[in-house]
Amino acid sequence: MKRSLALVPGLLVLALAAFGRPDAPDVPDIPYTVTRLSKRVVVLDCQDVNVTAIAAKSGLIVIDTNRSPAVMQRLRRVIEEEFGRKDFIYLVNTHGDPDHSSGNPVFPSVPLIAHRDYAAFITHGKALALRNRWSRRSRLEDAQAKLTGMNPQSPKAESLRVRIATLELMSADLHDGRSARVPTVTFKDSLHLDLGDLTLELRFCGEAHTNHDLVVYVPEEKLLLAGDLICSPWSPCFSINAMADVPRLVRELERLLQQEAGIETVVPGHGKVLTRADLSTFCRTLAERYGEVRIESSAARIVSQTIESEGMQAALQRCPWPARGGQGTLDWSVWEFGTLGVRLMRRGKVDEAIGVLQLAIRAQPQSAYLYDCLGDACLENDDRAAAAVAYERSLVLMPDGRHAEEMLKTLRGEK
Ligand SMILES: [Zn+2]
Repeated sequence: MKRSLALVPGLLVLALAAFGRPDAPDVPDIPYTVTRLSKRVVVLDCQDVNVTAIAAKSGLIVIDTNRSPAVMQRLRRVIEEEFGRKDFIYLVNTHGDPDHSSGNPVFPSVPLIAHRDYAAFITHGKALALRNRWSRRSRLEDAQAKLTGMNPQSPKAESLRVRIATLELMSADLHDGRSARVPTVTFKDSLHLDLGDLTLELRFCGEAHTNHDLVVYVPEEKLLLAGDLICSPWSPCFSINAMADVPRLVRELERLLQQEAGIETVVPGHGKVLTRADLSTFCRTLAERYGEVRIESSAARIVSQTIESEGMQAALQRCPWPARGGQGTLDWSVWEFGTLGVRLMRRGKVDEAIGVLQLAIRAQPQSAYLYDCLGDACLENDDRAAAAVAYERSLVLMPDGRHAEEMLKTLRGEK
């Protein structure tokens, strides 16, 4: 299939819809699409997450592994069928969020490549693991309830049955005993992989969606895999605020755009494949929107930088502690402090995370979101009693807060 065809906007529907194939009796049908970008590159979109497989002469490389081992098991077979071979030599995770890394155990002996901060991120995610558990369960319950009131012959009921089968399959993952994988190969800023006929350039582009997102550039394919840094030409998959290193991201992407080999195709972590023009639009839009962010007045950024350079004690001593309900001249954005708290927590710096969240709560005492983050950090610290207090406070401030309610149920052993 010619690359030029696949690059014409609107013709990316070269993708063929495949509703499972009869050669996988142990796995229920799961809808997915296959987009063949070239002889060597295929993108599988399943449950709104893209998995990319690249066939180098020396072996197959898989970038991201979807939401579940059971689902990735099916996708692995599709990749093997697409290329007629099974010689997987590398896995790459663009980042450690579970929708991109949960299928890693399907490749137990294949070296996993990720950013150096990936390992800490997946190790310190107790609250997220619980959240995934209840969210998976409640999505299944919601779908089952919806199906009950439907005409069983209708197309909607049929698609709901497929969704339920997929969710049930994913629920089985929770009991299969397989756990997240620590990377075999890591890097700080960039990694060059020479695969003979293909090269992979992996680059860290600064803290944005997480603290360790990477992009993969394949010059011979004029291809960029962007993970969750790009959601669409007009929006990133993260908040544009003072906690996102937008200047570095734009700089890195523009440098790639200027590479002699060029970029023609961009595969985001979710959604349709994008073009070079889309990437240019994205860089321009991102830079414009970041121009409106008042980074110099961000309290979270000041605290973060002081922790980085002089440590937590200095940050707490130096920071102009807000009077209760008063924020001074700084912007005490709950979202920026939430991001900072989560980043510290996912680096294993749990005491610091709790410290900054308590500080932010002094400035924003009515924020249910900050109490949710504090509960998560306490949970990471194995302090279930303090976590329950934080979630209870969150529920008082926002009685319909699902996260606090479900986490409290879990802590009380109700679910
Ligand atoms: Zn994602």
